Amino acid sequence: MNRHYRKTIIAGNWKMHKTASETVAFAAEIRGKMPENIRSEVVLCMPALNITTAQKALKGTRIAVGAETMHYEEKGAFTGEVAANMLTDLGVKYVIIGHSERRQYYNETDQSVNRKVRAALNAGLVPIVCVGESLAQREMGVTAELLAYQVMSALSGVSARELRRVVIAYEPIWAIGTGKTATAEQAQEVCEGIRTLLRKKYDARAARAVSILYGGSMNARNAAELLAMPDIDGGLIGGASLVPGDFVQIIEASRQED
Ligand code: PEP
Repeated sequence: MNRHYRKTIIAGNWKMHKTASETVAFAAEIRGKMPENIRSEVVLCMPALNITTAQKALKGTRIAVGAETMHYEEKGAFTGEVAANMLTDLGVKYVIIGHSERRQYYNETDQSVNRKVRAALNAGLVPIVCVGESLAQREMGVTAELLAYQVMSALSGVSARELRRVVIAYEPIWAIGTGKTATAEQAQEVCEGIRTLLRKKYDARAARAVSILYGGSMNARNAAELLAMPDIDGGLIGGASLVPGDFVQIIEASRQED
């Protein structure tokens, strides 16, 4: 991570976990455990249904509440969907876009991810754009090319000025929820590659301001090593963000360069 140029962000992704009551219980527990004087931004992305409950329950903790997805249209006949301005109206800042589970189970494509990224930016949200390769793609040796395609597609039509509000999460699909973490070197190599790409598409100044997160079985034990890498500026954390004690340890690990 490089605090001179960009924010460190520790983001949880709760997926389809926790009821409103469980959210309140989590907040009560983490409130007493949160470390003091943390400079990292901390956010828990959760089902839209529980956002307001979580915001109330987490008030005063420095943990922001984010969303897991949104639609790219401003409004309309899209049953079950959530629009960007519904999130901003609640005071939400961060929204995960293009998580591999959304791509796999809900037909999200590089094209729809791009539309969502632009809609999020237009609404004033900070998109956490997820990219990552499958095990088969890694074994075929096409990780760099695939990631370049995913990143370039997601950012099509995004200006250098807007890029300052974009967060990219590198999440190798083979490491999500599997307990298999990319080594710090593997993760750094890809995150560095993403930054090089941003430098070429935009410029050095714009590229160095973008926070690039690693996601894929980050936990209390491996977080410090991953976060120490120069191009890893935080984490997107699934399973370990559901347990207050584990999530707090990851937040603590992000303090190392304070
Ligand atoms: C995720 O959901 O984005 C994720 C990285 O999950 P996990 O930490 O459980 O692998």
